[in-house]
Amino acid sequence: MKINTITNWAYGLTVVLTALSGAAFIASINSSAKERDAVQTHLILNELGEELAIGAELRTDEARLYVMRGDPSHLDAFTRADQAEAELEASAQEAGSLGATSEEIAFLQRIVADLDTLEALEQEAVSTYQSGDTTRARDLLFGAQHYQFHLKLIDDVTQFRRMVQNRTDRDLQAAHQRSDWFEFIAQIMLGLTATVFLGVLYFVLRRRVAVPLARMAGIVKRLASQDYEVEVPLDGRRDEIGELNRAVHVFRKNGLEREQLDAERRRDIKIKDLILKLMHRVQACQSLDELGAVIARYAPQIFPDLAGVLYVRGDSQRMLHCASCWQTDPPEPEDIDCEECWALRRGRAHRSNSGAKEDVVCSHLADPSSSALCIPLAAQGETIGLMSFSGVHAETEVTREDRVYLELIAENVALAAVNLNLRNRLSQMVDRDPLTGLLNRRSLDVAFGTYACTPPPFPTACLIIDIDHFKRINDGFGHEAGDEVIKSFAGLLAAAVGDRGTCYRFGGEEFVVLLPGQDGRAAFELAENIRSRTADMALSYRGQSLGRITISAGLAVAPSGGSMETLLSRADSALLQAKSAGRDRTVHETLELALS
Ligand code: GH3
Ligand code: MG
Ligand code: MG
Repeated sequence: MKINTITNWAYGLTVVLTALSGAAFIASINSSAKERDAVQTHLILNELGEELAIGAELRTDEARLYVMRGDPSHLDAFTRADQAEAELEASAQEAGSLGATSEEIAFLQRIVADLDTLEALEQEAVSTYQSGDTTRARDLLFGAQHYQFHLKLIDDVTQFRRMVQNRTDRDLQAAHQRSDWFEFIAQIMLGLTATVFLGVLYFVLRRRVAVPLARMAGIVKRLASQDYEVEVPLDGRRDEIGELNRAVHVFRKNGLEREQLDAERRRDIKIKDLILKLMHRVQACQSLDELGAVIARYAPQIFPDLAGVLYVRGDSQRMLHCASCWQTDPPEPEDIDCEECWALRRGRAHRSNSGAKEDVVCSHLADPSSSALCIPLAAQGETIGLMSFSGVHAETEVTREDRVYLELIAENVALAAVNLNLRNRLSQMVDRDPLTGLLNRRSLDVAFGTYACTPPPFPTACLIIDIDHFKRINDGFGHEAGDEVIKSFAGLLAAAVGDRGTCYRFGGEEFVVLLPGQDGRAAFELAENIRSRTADMALSYRGQSLGRITISAGLAVAPSGGSMETLLSRADSALLQAKSAGRDRTVHETLELALS
């Protein structure tokens, strides 16, 4: 019930009680008035009785004095007293209007009858006296009969006065009792009013207002400090406190939702921030190994509950190789067949969830019973790998929100990987000779440029090798046969040099070999070794032997033979010398210089 309703009811009740109390007080006051009326009636009737008795006595005295003295003044006084008595009797006849009871009126009529009897006797005595019978007149007034009548009158008046007295006493007592009763009622009503008032005050202020408000204040205080753990049970009240309770309940609910949204937003921002960092770093990767390392570092920060494996396509079109993994051991085996993954087969993300038995499960998964999400790495029409995510814990699921981000990451990783491949291919095309696979002349220029900034270790040997009479091969067996010879020699050259130096196709059938850290003698020996192995090559083209191939080589060493800038031209001079000297030989400029 609303406090407003309670207070209204309480107000109505107190008004009713107060009205009743007032009515009781008024009734009590009325009773007092009745007391006064009773006393007044008593006084009037008492006085009437007394005056009737006294008037009778006065009239008797005047009659007696007249018959005794014969003085006419007494006769006049007798007549006046009789008239006065007659007026009193008339008043007695109307005693009902003065408040006398029927019993008292009857008594008054008895008194009037007594007075009339006495009056008749005294009138007779006066008449008798006036007729001259003084003795009889005196007997009538002083005789036993008059005495008896007078006594009866006195007795009746006394009884009347006692009756009035008794009745007045009763009336007074009744009025008094009534007055006391109404006063008592009024006091009870007042007491009830005060009790209702105090009760409502206590109930409303303490039980219904103060206690709930204090509890609510504590709750609001905790909510203000963003402590949404506090419970706000609905009290079901329909009053203002109930409304406050509901408002606080809604406030807490909203606060909880807001906090949850904030947490989700913060997590979202953090994830996006990390994904952005990941993308920046992924785009800057120089190799697939770096790419794998970057993902392995960031993925656990973005999704702490997810483990993952990054597979990339190797030389084989069918097989994928594990480039990196995080929050899990490397898979065994590290290579998987494309056919093992439903995502790769279908060319779209695939969720394996064997527990729910919703979909088919990829057979490459280390734990096929856990939930996993495989996303193919595809970009620019090329599928170059696979990212496979699974829960760190068996019960961890990949959520819908996570999936959006995971696909975004996969998309960027795929793009970065394709770009890496593209860059590698471009770099191959720019830096290498397509026929032999060796670095081209441009790469040699770059190397010399690098050496200009960072000098190579001392000493560095430079070989220029040229195939002898190559034109004859072209002319004799065709250009394609010539290409085969160049390719075969390049393979031999790369194998012979190994990691001792770098081979370049300088142009046509000319090759340059830079040998950092190799002195002239070592380089010379290497050149001779290459020369003899070339001579031993048995080359044929389309079943036709191409004959014996010979080479000439010029050797220069930096810095003993001069600066790095002139190293190549010095080697070239040595090559010319070798050609001039009859080909199929190695000329070391310093040795030649020394020999000459
Ligand atoms: P020398 O012993 O003096 O070096 O004589 P040579 O015939 O080897 O030298 P020359 O400079 O006269 O001829 C080189 C020839 O190599 C000319 C050119 O047509 C040919 N050639 C250059 N590049 C290629 C190539 O990529 N493939 C083929 N098949 N021939 C090439
Ligand atoms: Mg040549
Ligand atoms: Mg040449």
